[in-house]
Amino acid sequence: MPAKSMEELVSLCKRRGFIFQSSEIYGGLQGLYDYGPLGVELKRNLKAAWWRAMVHERDDVEGLDAALLTHHQVLRHSGHEDTFSDPLVDCRRCRSRWRADQIGGACPACGAKELTEPRPFNLMFKTTVGPVEDGASFAYLRPETAQGIFTNFKNVLDATSRRLPFGIAQMGKAFRNEITPRNFIFRTREFEQMELEFFVAPGEDEAWHRHWLESRLEWWAAQGVPRQALRVYEVPPEELAHYSKATYDLMYRFPHGVEELEGIANRTDFDLGAHSKDAADLNLSAQVEENQDSTARLALRDEASGEWRVPYVIEPSAGVDRGVLAVMNEAYAVQELDSGATRTLLRLKPHLAPIKVAVLPLKRNHENIVANARRIKRDLQALGLGRVFYEHTGNIGKGYRRHDEVGTPMCVTVDFQTIDDDSVTVRERDSMAQVRVPSAALGDFVKERLATG
Ligand code: ATP
Repeated sequence: MPAKSMEELVSLCKRRGFIFQSSEIYGGLQGLYDYGPLGVELKRNLKAAWWRAMVHERDDVEGLDAALLTHHQVLRHSGHEDTFSDPLVDCRRCRSRWRADQIGGACPACGAKELTEPRPFNLMFKTTVGPVEDGASFAYLRPETAQGIFTNFKNVLDATSRRLPFGIAQMGKAFRNEITPRNFIFRTREFEQMELEFFVAPGEDEAWHRHWLESRLEWWAAQGVPRQALRVYEVPPEELAHYSKATYDLMYRFPHGVEELEGIANRTDFDLGAHSKDAADLNLSAQVEENQDSTARLALRDEASGEWRVPYVIEPSAGVDRGVLAVMNEAYAVQELDSGATRTLLRLKPHLAPIKVAVLPLKRNHENIVANARRIKRDLQALGLGRVFYEHTGNIGKGYRRHDEVGTPMCVTVDFQTIDDDSVTVRERDSMAQVRVPSAALGDFVKERLATG
């Protein structure tokens, strides 16, 4: 039961402290958002789930965390300087600027048809590096995390003695000077990506491409974005990026429409070839320019033939922020209760919930109840399950409603009976069922419920 509109989600995010507009007190900066107390937990949990599935649970993937500022030669040879652009048009009447492929023949702001011819607008942010502004010492903020993986290919290979197939995973910030950032955190100018570059022998690329498509669909389902909420779009040849032989886009029905959540591309031997010296000797299938700047050969020597071989690469590339939006949208529900009242809840998977358990003292000024509640909070926190929250509103009904709305799977209420028999009430988010549990058994109970979702 996803949200009916983006406004509903935006309002929840602001009200409960998931996501705020960046620099809001100065009027905001367009296309930039800040994650608040609960948003930071949700986002970290989603990234941790990705890292677990893509690195820890596999035996053929290594991790990486490369710099965000990137040498301009990297983005020159990757093709980004020349081709990483969107078509820009200006409205001659009201001077607004638009992406030509996102509007019809008229200006969406004033309706005028007097638009300039589209011209390519490069999306990369450029910045000065070092104290001298001579125009030569510049770098780019990376527009994707992938290039840091390609440029470190040899370092990782030398350090780990990997053989094909193997992958390198990375997650972190990427920056694109989008012409028209919009739809909340869907299209922003600073966002996070979770990318895997999985290197395979040429010829095995198509099978691995299909493998990763299936594997990623499964992963999204485990995050609460079920298969039926996603459409697999096979990008037609004329729409493919310059490096791609084939791409599947996972299209999700966001509140504003069906758009890309993740792209799974077959990047062939393009990137490693483009960053290699002596590309002419490497039997590349991709068309790359001879590279005079690189000092390395990003290839493996074939043991049988002794020839250099540049692996193909399959790239599942997902947006963290779009993931947060999809997960929240799927989890969002407004329920009508028997009493006629309604409640809003986020049915987040427990591993993604920002708060795992809230502990609520029935009376916030009752010394004994408060002492018990504090102890129980501390004991649960020590289990290392994630954030356990001490909720001191003293109004249990209000506390339950607040925690339903932010997706807390369980509330533990400490009351007068706790003083007598050291038991607590556990109230579950989805069923609203309440059970009495001895506090000595609470840790195991909570662990079990969080694990089974
Ligand atoms: P779009 O067509 O929507 O602009 P893209 O095809 O340019 O996206 P990719 O280059 O494939 O996107 O980037 C991989 C992933 O990074 C996307 O699937 C998306 O989840 C995320 N992403 C890309 N651009 C943005 C952005 N401006 N804001 C938030 N996430 C983004």
